Amino acid sequence: MEHQDPKKIEQFKGQPRLPTFAVPKRYDLTIKTDLSACNFSGTVLIRLSILQATRFLVLNALELVINEVSFTDSHNHRHIPCDVVVDSDDEILVLVFEQALGVGDGVLGIGFSGPLSEHMKGFYKGFDIDVPCLFLLTYVEAGVKKNMAATQFEAVDARRCFPCWDEPALKDITRSSAINKVVRLPAKANAAVDGYACHFHIFVNVLAILSSLLGTPVSYKPLKLVKHARRTRRQATFKITLDDVPSELTALSNMPVSLEKVDGQLKTVYFEDSPIMSTYLVAFVIGSFDHIEDTTTDGIKVRAFCPVGKSEQGKFALDVAVRALDLYRNYFSMPYPLPKLDMVAVPEFPGGAMENYGLITYCETELLHDDLHSAAANTQRLAIVVTHEVAHQWFGNLVTMEWWTHLWLNEGFATWVSYLATDKLFPEWKIWTQFLEMITGGLVMDSLEQSHPIEVDIPHARSIEELFDAIGYKKGSSVIRMLQDYVGDDVFQRSLASYINRFACQNVKTEDLWSVLSEESGVEVNSMMDLWTKQKGYPVISVEYKDQILEFEQSQFLSSGLNGDGQWIVPITVSLGSYDKRNNFLLETKHGRLDISELSGSCDGSSNSNEKRNQEELDKNLWVKINVGQTGFYRVKYDDKLTARLRKAIVDKCLSPSDKFGVYKVIYAFVSSDVVGVRGLVCCRELINETLILGLRDHGPSNVCYNVTKVSIDAMPDSVDDLKQFFINLILLSSEKLGWEPTSGESHLSALLREQVLMALATFGHSRTHEEAMKRFQTYLVDRNTSCLPVDIRKATYISVMSHTSTTNRNGFESLLMEYREADAVQEKTRILRSMASCPDPIIVLEVLNLMMSEEVRDQDVIYGLAGISLEGRETAWIWLNENWDAILKRWGTGMILHYFIRDIVTPFCSHEKADEVEAFFASRMHPSFAMNLRQSIEKVRIKARWVDNIKQEESLKDLVKGLACMVVAEAVEAAMVPSPPFNSGFESAGKRTEVHKKADEVEAFFASRSHPSFAMNLRQSIDRIRLKARWVDNIKQEESLKDLVKATLRSSGSLKISKYLLLGFNCHELPTDFIVRGSLQQASLESA
Ligand SMILES: [Zn+2]
Repeated sequence: MEHQDPKKIEQFKGQPRLPTFAVPKRYDLTIKTDLSACNFSGTVLIRLSILQATRFLVLNALELVINEVSFTDSHNHRHIPCDVVVDSDDEILVLVFEQALGVGDGVLGIGFSGPLSEHMKGFYKGFDIDVPCLFLLTYVEAGVKKNMAATQFEAVDARRCFPCWDEPALKDITRSSAINKVVRLPAKANAAVDGYACHFHIFVNVLAILSSLLGTPVSYKPLKLVKHARRTRRQATFKITLDDVPSELTALSNMPVSLEKVDGQLKTVYFEDSPIMSTYLVAFVIGSFDHIEDTTTDGIKVRAFCPVGKSEQGKFALDVAVRALDLYRNYFSMPYPLPKLDMVAVPEFPGGAMENYGLITYCETELLHDDLHSAAANTQRLAIVVTHEVAHQWFGNLVTMEWWTHLWLNEGFATWVSYLATDKLFPEWKIWTQFLEMITGGLVMDSLEQSHPIEVDIPHARSIEELFDAIGYKKGSSVIRMLQDYVGDDVFQRSLASYINRFACQNVKTEDLWSVLSEESGVEVNSMMDLWTKQKGYPVISVEYKDQILEFEQSQFLSSGLNGDGQWIVPITVSLGSYDKRNNFLLETKHGRLDISELSGSCDGSSNSNEKRNQEELDKNLWVKINVGQTGFYRVKYDDKLTARLRKAIVDKCLSPSDKFGVYKVIYAFVSSDVVGVRGLVCCRELINETLILGLRDHGPSNVCYNVTKVSIDAMPDSVDDLKQFFINLILLSSEKLGWEPTSGESHLSALLREQVLMALATFGHSRTHEEAMKRFQTYLVDRNTSCLPVDIRKATYISVMSHTSTTNRNGFESLLMEYREADAVQEKTRILRSMASCPDPIIVLEVLNLMMSEEVRDQDVIYGLAGISLEGRETAWIWLNENWDAILKRWGTGMILHYFIRDIVTPFCSHEKADEVEAFFASRMHPSFAMNLRQSIEKVRIKARWVDNIKQEESLKDLVKGLACMVVAEAVEAAMVPSPPFNSGFESAGKRTEVHKKADEVEAFFASRSHPSFAMNLRQSIDRIRLKARWVDNIKQEESLKDLVKATLRSSGSLKISKYLLLGFNCHELPTDFIVRGSLQQASLESA
C-alpha cells in the first residue's frame, strides 16, 4: 500500500475521543478462536452512517493485525483504502481512502487476528497493556488442565478483540435538533429513527413473553416508542458468531443462540441480534460448564454457569438474580430488556464481576456459594455483587453514560440500588446499617487533598481505570442516598422509573438524571448536586445552639486538619428530642440559622414563671441530632452543649444505632489527629462498642484497633502491648457472648460479628483465643469433617495459627500451606491466603509474598494476601516490592490490581522518611494508571507521620495507656479479688467466683415458683448476665500476668481513677487534652479523697 501524506493523519492523534463524521449502526462479528494455539482471528462487517463526506474512517484497534479492509457504499461500490495506519499510542486505526466517501450508509468490512493471552500473562508485552480483551484461561477438569476463553472489555478493551468505535457513545453533536425533529414523528415512522432497534427488541421480547404467558396477544404502548426516540443515539446492535468452537464446549454471548452447526470436532454458534449497546458490554465465553436455571415471574430465563460438577453452588446467586430481576422490573417500571440472563463463574477474572449485557461474568468467589465454605460475610458480599450487576442491566446497559466522566452514574447507582435490593430480599440483615461503611469509606477517602471529584475529565483512555475507586462507588452511592433521603423514597423511585423509561437505549449525562429529579420533586436538584459531583471534598457543619436558634456554618473537612475552601448546598436534616419532630432544609451559603422554637414546642411570650422554668428544664434535655440516620455525606460538629445532650440521649436510649454511631464517629474523626492521644482512646472505646453493636466490618472494631496500633508502633513502641491489651479487653466481652460456634437461629449479624471479633483477638495475640484456635485447628487437621471449625471462625483460627508461627516453628504455616494447596473451594483458598501474611515473623511474610508471585496463586487472588500483611512484615514487604516491581508489572500490568500492591504495602508506614523513600522510588516509575493512587497513599503516610510527632510529645500518655489497659479488666478483677463487689444493680450483685454462681442459682431458685410471662425473659437475661460475668471473672483469674499488671496500676490509683473517669464520664471529651494529661494524677487523687 502506498503512503499518504502523514500530516493528514496527524489530526487524529492525541485526541481523547474519536471524530464523529461516521457512526456505526450494526456490527456483524465473527470470531474464530484457537484454544490450543492461543490465538484468534475474525471478520467484522460494520454498517455505518457517514454523516459528513470524508476520506478518513477513524476507529479504535489495539494489538490487532489488520488483514484486509474494504468499504461498500449504498450504491454497492467497493472502496479499498489506500492506507491503513494502526497507531498504538492513541489506540486508533485510521483508514485513508483515495476519494471521499459520500454521506449515507455503507458497510465497512475488516479481517483481523490477534493473540489470546495465556494465563493473563503472555499477553503483557509492555507498560501500556493492562487487562486483556479476550483472554485464555485454564481450569482443571478431572485432573487435566484445559483451556477456555472469556472477554473483559470494560472500560476500553473491546478494541483489543475487534476494530470498533470503542466509546460508550460518540459525541452527540446533533442532539438538540434531533429531539425537535423526532418528537413530532408519528409512531409508525419510528422505524426510521435510530432508537428503533432497541425498543423494537423490548417490544418483541415483552410481547412474546406476555403472549406466551397469557395466551392472548398483548399490545405495547406506542407512547413509549415516541418517548424513547426523542434523542439520536450512537450505539450499535451486534450480531455475534463464534466459529471453530470445540463441539463439547459451551459458547455463550449476550444474546441467546439462534443456530448451532456442528461439524465433527468443531461447531459454529450463531447468536441472535442484540439490541443497541455499547462496545464495553459485548461479551462471549467459551468453556466447559455445568449450569442450573430458573425463570422470573415474567418468563425471563436465568442461568448460572459453574465449574463442572459444581452447578449446585450457583443456586444461591441464581435465586438472588431471579428475585432481583423481578424487583427491579417493578422498581424501574420497565421490563428486563433482553430475553435471557446468563451468569458465568470465570476461573480467573481481573475483578469482582462484570455486568456485560445479558451475560454477567463473575470471579468464582463472587458467584459460587456453599454452606460449608461460605461465611456470613461471603454470603452477604455475594448478594450485594449479584444485585449490583443485575441492576446494571438497567442502569448502565439500557441507559448508558455518554462518556467515562459519567461512569459514577453506573457505579454509584448500581452500588446504592444493590443495598436497596438486598434490604428488600434479606430484611433481617439490616443492610442499610452496613451502608454506613460506604459513607464512612467515602468520607475517609474524600478528606484527602489528593481526592478527586466524582465527575472528572478523562485526558487519556488509560486513566479511566483510576476512576473505579472509593469516590465513584462509595461517595457516588452516598450522595445518591443523601438525595433519596432528602426528596423522599417515593419521589425518588418515580423519578428513576421516569428516567429509565425516557432514556432507554440512549446515552446520558449526569445532568439528565438531575433534570428528571427536578421535574418530579420540585427541588432544584441540578445546582445542588453539581457541587457534590463536580468538586472534591465535603463539608463539616458546625452547629451552635442559642436561644431556640440553631446556627450552622460549613467549611471543607480535610484529614490534614486544614480547612479547604469548598462550599456546598447541603441537605440538612434535623431531629429534635424525638424522631417525630423533624425538619429538612438546604444550607445554601456558608452560614445558616434555624429557629426551632416551634419544633421544640416552646411556649413563647409566656409570663408564667413556672412555665418558663419548666421550659428551661425541658430545654436542657432537648437533644438535637443533625444528619438524621447518617444519610448525609458530611460531618457535623456540635457545640459542647449539644454534644452533652446527645450523650445524654444516648444514655437514655433515645438515638437509633446509626445515629449513635454517627455521634461517636464524628467525635473520633475530630480527635483522630490525636488518635492515640487521650481523647482518641476514649472515643475508641465508645466507637468500638457501637461498631460491635452494629456489626460493622470495614470500619468495625478490628479496623479501629488496627489503625491505632499502626500509628502507635512508631509513636510509642513501648506501649503497644498495653494498647493491644486495652483493645482485647474492649472486645472480650462481645466474644464471650458470641462464643466460637453458631447457635441455632442466630442472626446474620452475630455470625458476621463473630468473625470480626475473633479476628481482632487473634491479631492482638490474646492467649486464650490462641489456645482455643489451636485446639480446634488440630482437631480439624486430624478430621476434616469435624464440626468444630465452622466457617465463620476460620479466618480468626488461621490468623491465630500464623501469629504463633516463626522460622523456628513452622508447623502451623506448613499445615496451612497444605490446606491452601488441597482446598477446592475458592472462598477457602482466599481465606487462607488472607491469613498467611499476618505472621509476625518477617521471614515467613517474605515466603508468603514469594508464594503470591508463583503459579500457585491466581492473579486476582493476590489482593487477599496483600490485605493481610502484618505490621511486623511491612518493611520486608516494601523491600520485596522494590525488588520485584518489574516482575509485578510484567505479570499484572498497570491494571487495577497494581493499586492494591501500592496501597497495601505503602500505607502501613507512618514516617516522613518512608514517604520520601516511596516518592524517590516511584519518581522514575510513574504511570497515569496509578499516579493518583500513589499520591493518595503517600498523603496517608504523611498524615500519620504528623500524628506520630504529636503523640511523641505527650509524655504522660504511656501511663495513661497502661491505666487503660487495666481499666476494663480491673472492673472484673475487683469482682474476683475484692470482697465488696462493684456490681450493685438489681440481680447483678456479684462476688467471688463461687458466690457469683451461687447467686445465680439462688436467683433461679427464688423465681422457680414465681415466674411470670411478663418478666420471664427479663429474668433469664439478668441471670445470663450474671453467669457471663462469672465465666469472665473465672477466666481472668487464670491469667496470672494480668493480675500483676492490674496490681501495678492499682498502686498508681490516680491513673486508674482518671481512666475510669475518662471512660465513664460522658463529658470528658469536652475537657482540653492538656488538662486531662497534665492534671490527671492530682485531679484523680483529689476526687478519690
Ligand atoms: Zn458496577
